Amino acid sequence: MSNYLSTIKSLRNEICKRTEIFNKEIKPLNDALESLIKINTTCEYCEGTGNLYTYDNAGQKEQISCNNCGGSGYLQNEYNLERN
Ligand SMILES: [Zn+2]
Repeated sequence: MSNYLSTIKSLRNEICKRTEIFNKEIKPLNDALESLIKINTTCEYCEGTGNLYTYDNAGQKEQISCNNCGGSGYLQNEYNLERN
């Protein structure tokens, strides 16, 4: 019978400790990201151009309207809807 319980427990504790430290370190970044997402009005998919590009079977570049923003390049979310 192999018994690695002590090592398993020890690893779990270490992972738990490091996860807590990591979560504390990354919290300001997550907060900043959330704040920016709330005020951002530019569509992330088309980067504000309203268009996306694809290639057809012949290899020709084709421009299509962005479905995410309806081709406006503008992102509407619950926050900026209230402002406009
Ligand atoms: Zn878009």
